[in-house]
Amino acid sequence: MSISNQLHSLRKQLAPDVSLVAVSKTKPLADIEAAYQAGQRVFGENKIQEMAHKWEQLPKDIEWHMIGHIQTNKIKYMAPFVSLVHGVDRIKVLTELQKQAEKNNRVISCLLQVHIATEETKFGFSATEIEAFIREKSFENFKNLQIKGLMGMASFTTDKRQISGEFKGLKKLYDWCCSQGSNFEVLSMGMSGDYPEAIAQGSNMIRVGSLIFGSRN
Ligand SMILES: *Cc1c(COP(=O)(O)O)cnc(C)c1O
Repeated sequence: MSISNQLHSLRKQLAPDVSLVAVSKTKPLADIEAAYQAGQRVFGENKIQEMAHKWEQLPKDIEWHMIGHIQTNKIKYMAPFVSLVHGVDRIKVLTELQKQAEKNNRVISCLLQVHIATEETKFGFSATEIEAFIREKSFENFKNLQIKGLMGMASFTTDKRQISGEFKGLKKLYDWCCSQGSNFEVLSMGMSGDYPEAIAQGSNMIRVGSLIFGSRN
């Protein structure tokens, strides 16, 4: 199926309150243009310089989301334009994002990444760290950042019950943060292989790549 057909059939399955980030990492400009022609405006990348290159080349009404692990020395390349940073997994990233947002006279929106998978390799804060962050109102230290919610990645497994359990735990943490007056509005969870489970557990932002653009090399 073409990129535009894939996008249309995916969107048809989504309730209006679930937003779709089309993950275009490693894909050429032509693929992004095809998705843009089909009406998609939000794209996700996992390498800052690749995203900056694509931003330079493509229409300026595209919203670029940084979904990957962040190297703090590269934040300066995306600070002028990035619209949402999903993968904030340590305080050092917040500190550097704050510095670069201020330099660019912007408020940058971001999500705190939570480690919900069993694999050691996935990044993120623990639930306990997030709770402390909210309780101590640590976000007040970052005047040029708007922390809009949480992001998580489930384990790489075929066990759907395990995946659903991990997403459910993240939703519970998200709801707790909201109950503490955190003004959260984004819960980013779900990818090509597990977005139905993520939505069933309360995701309102899914990050889908291979299902739209085909598998990556
Ligand atoms: C690559 C990636 C995705 C998209 O993965 P697909 O399986 O291709 O849908 C989503 N989220 C993150 C953080 C990614 O790195």
